Amino acid sequence: MVGKRDSKGSLLDALVIVIYFCRTRWFLNFKNQAKLQLWQTKNLNSFIKNTIRKTEYYQSLSIEKFVDLPYMDKSTMMENFSARNTLGIELEQALSVAKNAEQSRNFKPTINDITVGMSSGTSGKPGVFLVSKQERLKWAGILLAKTLPTVLLQQILLPWRAPLRIAFFLRANSNLYDTLNSRRIDFQFFDLLAGLEKSIVPLNAQQPHALVAPATVLRHLALAKINGSLTINPIHIVNVAEVLEATDGELIMRAFGVFPHQIYQATEGFLAYSCELGTLHLNETHLLIEKEWLDEKSGRFQPVITDFSRTTQLIVRYKLNDILQVAEKSCLCGRAETTLAAIEGRADEVLWLTEMDGQALKPVYPDLIRRVMVLVEPELDEYSIVQKNNAWNIDIKTQGNLHLAHGAVVHHLAKLCEGMQLVLPAIIFGQWSAPALGVKRRRIRCELT
Ligand SMILES: [Zn+2]
Repeated sequence: MVGKRDSKGSLLDALVIVIYFCRTRWFLNFKNQAKLQLWQTKNLNSFIKNTIRKTEYYQSLSIEKFVDLPYMDKSTMMENFSARNTLGIELEQALSVAKNAEQSRNFKPTINDITVGMSSGTSGKPGVFLVSKQERLKWAGILLAKTLPTVLLQQILLPWRAPLRIAFFLRANSNLYDTLNSRRIDFQFFDLLAGLEKSIVPLNAQQPHALVAPATVLRHLALAKINGSLTINPIHIVNVAEVLEATDGELIMRAFGVFPHQIYQATEGFLAYSCELGTLHLNETHLLIEKEWLDEKSGRFQPVITDFSRTTQLIVRYKLNDILQVAEKSCLCGRAETTLAAIEGRADEVLWLTEMDGQALKPVYPDLIRRVMVLVEPELDEYSIVQKNNAWNIDIKTQGNLHLAHGAVVHHLAKLCEGMQLVLPAIIFGQWSAPALGVKRRRIRCELT
């Protein structure tokens, strides 16, 4: 837990959060597509006119309208770091602050009130992100407005009730998350690197109303609840930072009696959230999300995001390495924001196989493989699939007969390939071993050379 801020500052901060909360929850709750687009256009124009011109990089370009803006990704942003933030903060300075915070596990350090965060860097170099205090408060208001169920909102608003207790598991804490801590919200951070076993006693003591964690952690906690060592009864459960697989959802539902919602929050921005019906929506009220289609027929795309609510480090036409899938039908809640069928994972989780009647490579999306792997009997406790050129290295763990499981995996993959008219790759089986503490679960990966 975090210490209390001085009361005057904290009151003003809380007021800013409340203003953004009310604005997002009740005034920017778009049900009409045309109105949402109008709002985005108005904000983008103002963002181009007033914000991006404050950076050295955009000053050097002649930008009149949105389409003039060049695309960016993690590497271009890191190369040109100081010219792409409005304060001209150098990369070396930001990196050293972020690394110190990681090593000391003290996530408070800032550069003149600017929070420095580091992205997990599952592939390549770590990314660094700057967030001002004002952005932080705004973000907290927006996040709560988009994700807090009414019943938990009452917990915060009714003074005679105990403060809302949130338990939050992540690889690293940040000032960003501490922003949520207040007199009415008891926000407890659990460090994933400390190990899950150590969290059971404090969790039982805290008895959180809301539990926020990556899917693999929620899975472990669900098992602890079923075996009786964990005694919490959260009324709201949220998956963050990992793909939520159908089997995780079912297990969590069985253990706690609530189906997990999702928040898709990356260091690059707050991208998507589950509505009250549990359906994922893009946060298009605060971001313009262009769709770079991978396969338009199935609705799969990579998002290119422009966060027009930011004022320090600019995320402008930033291409994310994630694959999202648009739902076939809009959600019944009536929101104008795009309805998603799924967050599938990262682009390097797509595997590639040769067509039966040709040489062309065709994508096999991770979701298709996950669906096949749950059909395997005896049931798999864990698995990972890594494609290396033409072979798939599959590591599995099962309580059942390993030999039978191997046969079943091959059978189901062969059926999938046949249905897609693809050639079954060479399969090399191995023994599954658990990833290091705090490492994101990524069951499927493509490592082509
Ligand atoms: Zn909805």
